[in-house]
Amino acid sequence: MQILIFTFIVGSAYFIARPLRQLVQSTTNRDRTIKIRAWFYEAYLLKKVIRKEIDFLNDKVSKFDEDRKKDALTGLMNRRAMDELVTGLIVQLTPFSIIFFDIDHFKQVNDEFGHDIGDDVLRILAKIVSQKVHDEGFLIRSGGEEFIVILPGKKPKQAIDLVEEIRVLVAQEVIPQISKPITISLGVSNWDHTMKEGDAFKRADLSMYESKNAGRNRVKSWEVHSI
Ligand code: GH3
Ligand code: MG
Ligand code: MG
Repeated sequence: MQILIFTFIVGSAYFIARPLRQLVQSTTNRDRTIKIRAWFYEAYLLKKVIRKEIDFLNDKVSKFDEDRKKDALTGLMNRRAMDELVTGLIVQLTPFSIIFFDIDHFKQVNDEFGHDIGDDVLRILAKIVSQKVHDEGFLIRSGGEEFIVILPGKKPKQAIDLVEEIRVLVAQEVIPQISKPITISLGVSNWDHTMKEGDAFKRADLSMYESKNAGRNRVKSWEVHSI
């Protein structure tokens, strides 16, 4: 009889503690979906609190991950985000065009109107160009007053019209803060599976500097250049 009572007590304790044990297991396993039948109220409350904490932390992690890939001034993708994007395209062997562009004589804007207005100009430029490339590609602020556009699935010959449109659009838009437009110099190249990633990016950079040296406010393409 005593053995029976003892077995009953141990069995009941084991059964009662089961939801708590599962709770511990699921949190130590970092399980994001707590599937526990919390059949008594305290276990149910505990589960609810832990669920809330996990959701809170998941939101924080997602937000942190988003911020990590964003340029703080313009809200555009940053270099880290671009690296992830480009790695994905290369792994899938998806060809893409690359546009490098840089604001012409931007130092003069800062010198004449101040750094804060310079920041406004960067934000406005980011907006103008992202509206233009939105459907076709990704705009990245690669640093300072330099930007990159990645156009998946596009060869430079296909991209060149869009690049010229971007140049004209920027050169025509009067920026209220400085009462005049700015201009940009652009360089275009492309990547396909026969090329090294570094070479493709270097060619866009070289083409952009060719635009600068040729007088700024123009487009140079590596393909056109190399024919
Ligand atoms: P170029 O046509 O040869 O490109 O001339 P530039 O004056 O644009 O080039 P330079 O490299 O001489 O100067 C770049 C300027 O961009 C200097 C720097 O203060 C400014 N700049 C870089 N990042 C920022 C930023 O985040 N905000 C502001 N306001 N200015 C920036
Ligand atoms: Mg510049
Ligand atoms: Mg520059």
